[in-house]
Amino acid sequence: MADRVIITLACSECKDRNYYFDRNKKQEGKLELKKFCKKCGKRTLHKETK
Ligand SMILES: [Zn+2]
Repeated sequence: MADRVIITLACSECKDRNYYFDRNKKQEGKLELKKFCKKCGKRTLHKETK
């Protein structure tokens, strides 16, 4: 499973780290997803962070 990495998605507004999952290391680019943020109380853009 060496080609899998755990990444964190953080809310782009409050910077809370809300989502964790793994993905293939070979996948290009930074992940950005619209996800619900409990802190903001709405769907916001979540960005991959280290
Ligand atoms: Zn937020």
